[in-house]
Amino acid sequence: MSEYEPSGASPHPFGQALRGFAEKSPLTRALPSASKHQSVPRGCCVKTPLLVSACLAGEACRYDGVSKPHPGVQALVERGAALPVCPEYLGGLGVPRIPCEIREGLVLNAEGADCTLAFRAGAQLALNVAQTRGCGQAILKARSPSCGCGQVYDGTFSRTLHEGDGVFAALLKKKGVRVWTEENAPFAEFEVEAFSSCAGEAAGAAGGKPRKRGVLLVAYGAGNPQSAAALRRVRAEAERRFVLPARWAYTSETLRERIALARMKSDSVLKALRRMAFERYEEIAVQSLHLIPGVEYDGVLGDVELARRELPCDIRVGLPLLFSPDDAASAAAALLAHVRSFRSGREPVICMGHGSGRHGAAALYQALSDNVRNLDDSVRVACMNGAPSLEDVLNALDFASDEKELWLMPLLSVSGRHARHDMAGGHGQSWRSRLEEAGFLCRADVRGLADAGSFVELWMERLRAVLRSFDRPPSDPAATLQGVCS
Ligand code: SF4
Repeated sequence: MSEYEPSGASPHPFGQALRGFAEKSPLTRALPSASKHQSVPRGCCVKTPLLVSACLAGEACRYDGVSKPHPGVQALVERGAALPVCPEYLGGLGVPRIPCEIREGLVLNAEGADCTLAFRAGAQLALNVAQTRGCGQAILKARSPSCGCGQVYDGTFSRTLHEGDGVFAALLKKKGVRVWTEENAPFAEFEVEAFSSCAGEAAGAAGGKPRKRGVLLVAYGAGNPQSAAALRRVRAEAERRFVLPARWAYTSETLRERIALARMKSDSVLKALRRMAFERYEEIAVQSLHLIPGVEYDGVLGDVELARRELPCDIRVGLPLLFSPDDAASAAAALLAHVRSFRSGREPVICMGHGSGRHGAAALYQALSDNVRNLDDSVRVACMNGAPSLEDVLNALDFASDEKELWLMPLLSVSGRHARHDMAGGHGQSWRSRLEEAGFLCRADVRGLADAGSFVELWMERLRAVLRSFDRPPSDPAATLQGVCS
């Protein structure tokens, strides 16, 4: 089990198959046959991965804690041609979970609880994976309330089928992705082409010699053991997925000095890049855990620019979580998946972001806030600096009873001083104290986003885009289109 997953969740459902993408063998032969085929052009050529239901790939992510392996799907995954994803798992629904069916547009579990928001959030996150990886086709598990395509159970829990699509299948279709089930997918007609690995296999300009490739992850820093552990888990996840060495650089000089006093090593971005160049890395993917392209992120770009002038390496930088308003939908879905890991009912939640009163990128917090509200009106984003402010969101929240209870959580990558002192601290100026003084009963989950599997997933996709960009020369504008600052 990946340590950053919410407690009680099962092993990452698509982790095993993601490792398949790091394999290097060319994928050129046709796949085993299936019985019933829809009509597709013969020799349909799969240049981008197929999206497949993780349970069909053999992941035990179903509601009952088992998988539904399908040989044709597993063959695609083993050849690195298919990307498994489980929208319900991504939506924060644990494994095992109470079975759900769709009735009159709502997803209800067998006990009558409305799980529609979790299903929508998971579908949105899974769609984000599909779009980031360029998946134009999908093979999904038949009849599932998420993945079913054409037929789903009717909401009576009596094994009665009726026409319709699962939540994820419907979203994929709306976005133009072609969807099959394992029962009608044309397995025999897929000609699978090779996907290049992310793992340091780029051919050198002279003679095709592999180039030494590594990952530099960047965060503000880790000032307590819990944050340090969260960052270690992110690094381990990056190394596991991309089969590359990864290390951390911290942007906070204060934290670096504190770490140095404890006789431990920590590097700035520039120092870490110099060290990697000294160790003869030729291609370095830099991925920061910043939320927005604000002042801190600008500093990372500045260090990288200096390093590019000085070092004989190809250094490329991934985008932060919210680079444009278009990123807000997937970040909102990730946020709600994380909220479900600590909130049980519909208690209001205020997510404390850093904000930035002056930087233009601060407007992205508003875009995130709007998207979150569209999914769940009881969850709000507020900023320490700039808009939306704590007062703005407090005035807009509805409370179910006179007992005004709410949750606080940091919208920050690690749980440092802002989360523990400024948000949840006991001093008079903390958000908790101000709210309690105003008559609210506050509970706080101080974990940072590096502890949330849904956010780590988004950062990993950013990192994947950087690594993929090494297949192109730095001057190629497509490198930028892939979401990489070069
Ligand atoms: Fe997950 Fe879809 Fe399989 Fe259900 S059918 S377990 S949502 S992958």
